[in-house]
Parts: sequence; structure tokens; C-alpha cells
Amino acid sequence: MVILHTFTKIRKYMLVQKFGGTSVGSAERIKEVARLIHTGQPKIVVLSAMSGTTNSLVEIAGYLYKKNHEGANEAILNLEEKYHTVIDELFESDAYKAKGRELIQSHFTYIKAFTQDMFTLFEEKAILAQGELLSTALMHYYLSEQHIDSVLVPALNFMRTDKDGEPDLFYIKENLQREIENNPGHHIYVTQGYISRNAFGEIDNLKRGGSDYSASLIGAAIQAEEIQIWTDIDGMHNNDPRVVDNTHPIATLSFDEAAELAYFGAKILHPASVQPAKIANIPVRLKNTMQPEAAGTLIGNKSEGKGIKAIAAKDDITAIKIKSGRMLLAHGFMRKVFEIFETYKTSIDMITTSEVAVSVTIDDTRYLNDIVEELKKYGTVEVDQNLSIVCVVGDFIAESKGYALKIFQALENISIRMISYGGSKHNVSLLVNTADKKEALVSLNQNLFEHV
Ligand code: ADP
Ligand code: ASP
Ligand code: MG
Repeated sequence: MVILHTFTKIRKYMLVQKFGGTSVGSAERIKEVARLIHTGQPKIVVLSAMSGTTNSLVEIAGYLYKKNHEGANEAILNLEEKYHTVIDELFESDAYKAKGRELIQSHFTYIKAFTQDMFTLFEEKAILAQGELLSTALMHYYLSEQHIDSVLVPALNFMRTDKDGEPDLFYIKENLQREIENNPGHHIYVTQGYISRNAFGEIDNLKRGGSDYSASLIGAAIQAEEIQIWTDIDGMHNNDPRVVDNTHPIATLSFDEAAELAYFGAKILHPASVQPAKIANIPVRLKNTMQPEAAGTLIGNKSEGKGIKAIAAKDDITAIKIKSGRMLLAHGFMRKVFEIFETYKTSIDMITTSEVAVSVTIDDTRYLNDIVEELKKYGTVEVDQNLSIVCVVGDFIAESKGYALKIFQALENISIRMISYGGSKHNVSLLVNTADKKEALVSLNQNLFEHV
């Protein structure tokens, strides 16, 4: 009880600050992040791996699966070399340069050991964890060389998923609190994003881009004052800046709007990362490390502004159509269809029905063949791939008149495979061929934001 009470006092004004791969992508960037976190306010700093590292580790694991030891060794040495350059540029004193070299040696000796053994998913996860372990240790050393006090809190001691692969919130909360209470009186607690343990205690991760999810789970676990996601752009933009020119940051978004955008492809946030913050009602602020003075985006429980706010797109979508004139309107048919997806733990993103057919979309195709085989019991089944969901997000109830027209006008030259409108007041989703995605996003941008 006493311990919990102390913790309640600490967490009241605690921040969570997450810095992504580009934000810690070089010695220079690590120094800049150190300046941004050294504010005096108590915080948990969540770091991604330095940019490019996780991709390299994925590549190394790929070589090891194929038993291409030469390829793996070359990729490992290249990555190790990059870290030696970082050490040279990051630390001032010989003592810290030596500590940095030792750190790198220990992680790379660990990675190299896998080239001799059998390689399974377990070894892959262990390799993928090295990026965040390295970046956080480097930050901790750099802070300490600068005489800035910090504590390294291992995420593998508290971040955990359950047997369904979902975060085990109770475990995370208990164990994170314990980690902090065992190290009282510090202002900066540094931990790894992305990495976790699974229900068996093995090293695992929260999937690519998962550091945002870590930050949100940590924020919820400590009831943080705010969760800040620091990245390489000045907030959530109104369209995908990788595809469309003339996008702009959105000042405020509701949790639901942000969750829809993240889920439907706005890469700035991991698809699941809004949910824990929303449930705990903790504001999420998106900030630009390269331009800290920019306002960014504040995500909270209020939606400000009316009408259409943003567009996102999610690729690699598969549509499945089940055609069954005889059975579709019979009650119980939909349940049977959904049960098949449930059995194979495959979630459905979009759904549309007609009198003779039902179409759904999925993004996880691991069990596609099994699902299709089972669905065939209920009618003819057609599968379409290489599709993208274009998702238009905003407050459609407030001023919904005319928006549908603008959306469809923008897409007049694009064939639309499915439409979902009215599922929530925040979202209109359209399924198009991925080949048409860019044209759809550009044209929607012009019709919805540029000619208003
Ligand atoms: P980090 O490494 O910091 O996690 P990410 O690369 O995962 O950064 O996310 C930031 C990137 O997300 C931006 O550089 C931008 O290209 C991309 N992005 C995609 N859609 C959006 C959007 N709607 N608003 C802002 N950024 C977006
Ligand atoms: N390093 C991991 C990745 O590149 C996690 C993250 O950056 O969020 O996917
Ligand atoms: Mg990211």
C-alpha cells in the first residue's frame, strides 16, 4: 500500500516520451534527443532502434533462415561497422568510447552466435530485439557522460503479451511500477519500445512500428500526464505525405479519429497504439524532433473542427466475396460466415452486403486458403488481392451534407470495389485497386482540401 501510494505521487506528473528510429538515427540525433528529454520533468523515455537497424536485423534473420551464413555475416559486419561510427561521434571521452565499444561487442557477439545454430522464430525474435537494446543503452551512456542522471529500465522485465498475443495490461502495470519503485528518485527512466515477452516469457515484439504501442501501453500503465510521440514530421497530416504533395498537420484529433487513421494506414502511429491511451484517457501529442517548436497534433477526447479531416490508405488488402442467393437472407447465415473468420483468428476490416452476396476484406492472409475452403460450403467464393482501403476520416454527422458527393466526384475515374459508410460517424472507407491508390489519394486531396 505504501509503495503504491508513493507511486501514485510520482506518476501524477510523469510524461512518456517516445522517440522513433529517425529521431535517434545518428549520433547527432541522439544528442538532440538528450537535449529534448533533459527538462527536469519526470518521464519515461521510450526509444526505437536507430533507423535502418530493425530492417538490417530482419535481413540478417532472413539470411539465417535460408542458412546463407555468408550473407548473414556480411550484413552483421556492415551493421556493426555503423555502430562503431556512432560510438566515435557520440562520446567525447576515451572512457565512454571504450564502454560503447564493449556494448557493441557484446550485442554483436550475441547476434553472431546465431549463425552457428538452428534458426527458428525464437532466435529471430531475439535478434530483432537487439536494435532497441542498443539504442537505449547508447542513450543511457550518453546521458551519463553528460552528467544527466537516468535509469535504464529493461522492457523485457515488464512488457508482456498474453496467450492471444494481446498486451497483458495487468502484468505490465504491476511490473513497470515495481521497476520504477526499485529505482526511486530519478527523473529520466529510459526503456525500449517494440520489444516484449510473450505468454511463455520468451522474447517477442509488438510488430513493426510497435514502439508507439509500447509508449501508449506504458502511458496507460502509469496513468501518465501525457504520451508524446516524437517523430520526423510535425504531426498527423491530412493525407499520406509519402504519396501526396501539399499535406498539412492537423492540430487536434479525437481518439476515435486518430485510431481510424492509424488503423487504416497513417504510418505515423502503430495501428493499435491509440487504444490504450483512449481507454486510460491520456492525451497523445505527436511532435517533430527535427522541429520541436512546431505545434504538432494533440489527440484527446474531444474532436475539434467539423467535416473531413484526413485521409489514409492501407495496402495489402484481400477481398472475399461469398455469393449465395439461397442462403444469404436466411437468419444465421452471417453468423456462420463470421464464425469461420473467428476460428482462424482473422479480423475483418470492411463488410458490405447485397441480396445475393456478402463481401468482406482482411489484411491477414495466413489462413486464407482454409477460410476459403470453409466458406465454399455456403456458396461460391471469389478472392481479390492487391487492394487498398482508402479511409476518409472526420466528423460526418455535424455537416455530412455534400461530403459523399465530393468523395465520389473525386473518384469518378477510379473503380471502387466496396464502400463502407455509416459504420461510425468518423469514417468512410473505400476499397480500390492498389494500382489506383495514388490517384485516389491525390484526387481526394484536391477535392476535399484544396478546392474548398
Ligand atoms: P518513427 O520512426 O518516428 O516511428 P515512422 O516512419 O514510423 O516514424 O512514422 C512517421 C512517418 O509516417 C512520416 O515520416 C510520414 O512519412 C509517415 N506518414 C504516413 N502517413 C502520415 C500522416 N497522415 N501524417 C504524418 N505522417 C505520415
Ligand atoms: N524498431 C521497430 C521497427 O522498426 C519498432 C519501431 O521503430 O517502432 O519496426
Ligand atoms: Mg513508427
